[in-house]
Amino acid sequence: MWVKAGCRAACYKSRALLSQRMQLRSRLSAYSRGIRRNDFQDLPVDRAMGVKSDQILFDGRLRKRKRIILLTGGCSIATCTMCPFPGESRRGVRSEDLIRQFEGAFEGDCIDNYELITLFCNGNFFSDRELGPQVRAHIFERIGGSQAAILAVESLPQFLSESKIAAARRGLGFKKLAVFMGLQSADDFVREVAINTTCSRLAFERAVAILHANEYLAVAFLMVKPPFLTEAEAIEDAVASLGYLSRLGVTHSTLCPTRVAPGTLLSEMHARGHYQPGWIWSVVEILTRNADTLGSVPMVNTTELKDWINPGSCCARACPDCKESTILAIEKFLFSRDLDVLKSLHCSCYTDYQRQMQQETRRWGSLSVHERVELFLKLIQVIPGGIGLEIV
Ligand code: SF4
Ligand SMILES: [Zn+2]
Repeated sequence: MWVKAGCRAACYKSRALLSQRMQLRSRLSAYSRGIRRNDFQDLPVDRAMGVKSDQILFDGRLRKRKRIILLTGGCSIATCTMCPFPGESRRGVRSEDLIRQFEGAFEGDCIDNYELITLFCNGNFFSDRELGPQVRAHIFERIGGSQAAILAVESLPQFLSESKIAAARRGLGFKKLAVFMGLQSADDFVREVAINTTCSRLAFERAVAILHANEYLAVAFLMVKPPFLTEAEAIEDAVASLGYLSRLGVTHSTLCPTRVAPGTLLSEMHARGHYQPGWIWSVVEILTRNADTLGSVPMVNTTELKDWINPGSCCARACPDCKESTILAIEKFLFSRDLDVLKSLHCSCYTDYQRQMQQETRRWGSLSVHERVELFLKLIQVIPGGIGLEIV
């Protein structure tokens, strides 16, 4: 009898926590939707948003790649607190337009010139709402019939299924598929509330199992300094997330240093002093600490660190004297995995980094992440299902 009462109390408590979590999420989503901008409505529907040819380090060596960013109707999730992509979309893009965008990327060029094709859609390649099965089938067949060896795409894991991967196999033949998935953090509260993504660990693990069973590559995106976390917590979060990937047998991951982009909830937090961009030194720290563990070998999306190619955004910090050289050192490390490259880095701004890390911990450390989210939502007075009404 007593055990039953105890179980019932625990059950009520966990239901109450879940409902609190859902409320926080719906208020964050409502605010994100209310502030979103879209300046892409005038773009031609049959032209990819970005096409570039270059060489990148991928799966252990330098490869010639074609990078294509398709212009789609946008991410069907569109809730993540830091993400500007839902605003970078266009209504009225049809499947035939997407196929034209893909083909147009090779105008005056040949797909056979590339070993790797990275195809991004600022959303989810495997979501039928974003990219129809006929578009995927066209792309798979084109890569399958070309000299290209690898297709890399991005998608949240819940959109992958055995049948969609079987369709990939049919079109791609022996070519390799790599799927980048936005896990962001292995911590459930950080991922589900602070980042407000719909990616669950269960869906991620299921997708990894499907990809591995087909000898395809599962790659996890991890955030460095998610919203609502202090610098010190963010380091621990990334190191713990890399450990989780190691245990899961996910050998490939990409650290994404958070960029404060306009039109996002994160930029509103930044404007109100509730978030400071992280430091590049934290990326160095995470790489150094992770070097001793076996398993996941993270790459770093260094593009997100470069203010000069992200106008209007605030990228992770270092002083002007060392920013470029520290980014270069990280890139050199990713090639060589020689820890001395990171250990030999020195700059006077490292003491500013440590001091600010302590200040941030003093300011926020007494509040739980849950309380910090509550505090911010109170500040902007978000009505569930409605838009934000600012009170300060
Ligand atoms: S991070 Fe991915 S899933 Fe989240 S809103 Fe951006 S594109 Fe969509
Ligand atoms: Zn410096």
